[in-house]
Amino acid sequence: MFALPDLPYAYNSLEPYIDEETMRIHHDKHHGAYVDNLNKLNTQNLGLEELLKSTDQKIINNLGGHLNHSFFWEVMSPNPNAPSGKVLEAINSTFESLEKFKEAFSEKAMTIFGSGWAFLIMSPDKKLSLKRHSFQNSPLMHGNIPILGIDVWEHAYYLKYQNRRADYIQAWWNVVNWTKVGENFIKGL
Ligand code: MN
Repeated sequence: MFALPDLPYAYNSLEPYIDEETMRIHHDKHHGAYVDNLNKLNTQNLGLEELLKSTDQKIINNLGGHLNHSFFWEVMSPNPNAPSGKVLEAINSTFESLEKFKEAFSEKAMTIFGSGWAFLIMSPDKKLSLKRHSFQNSPLMHGNIPILGIDVWEHAYYLKYQNRRADYIQAWWNVVNWTKVGENFIKGL
C-alpha cells in the first residue's frame, strides 16, 4: 500500500508565493486521489520497481502522480538556502550560469502545452538536462533521476495566479529547496 506523505512544512508556509488553499487542495485532494487510485489499481500489490515498468496508462498516471508530487513537496521549502556545492558546479558547467539555467528551466515550464511538469534530470550517464513531461509521466519511468521539478498543471497555481503561469513560475523560484536539490544530485551520482 502506498501512503500520502505529510507535507514537510505547514500549508501556509510557502505564502505569499504559493497560497495556503492551493497547498491544501493540491496535497490533500489531488495527491491524495493519486495515492487512493494507485492502491485500488494495484490489485496484485506489486512493488515500485515492477509498477515503474507498467504499460497500463491508469497505473502510469496515478503512480506518476504519487511520485511526482512526493518529490515536488520536498524540493520546496519556506526557508530555502542559496544553491551551492556540487549541484551548482554541475549547473554552471551544463548551463553556463545559474541565471541561464533558471531562464532555460522557466522556458521549459512555460512551453508545456496543457498539463505537465518541467524537470531537471540526471540521465544514467550522470549528465544534467531539462525535460518536459506531459500529464504525470515520471522521470523514473524513463530511467532518469529527477533533481528539480515544477508542477505546471493549472491546479498548482490557478487559484492565486489564474492564467498567469509565468508569474507562478517566477514566484516559485523563491521557495526552491536548494539543499534538497543538492542532495538529489549527490544521490544520483
Ligand atoms: Mn499537481
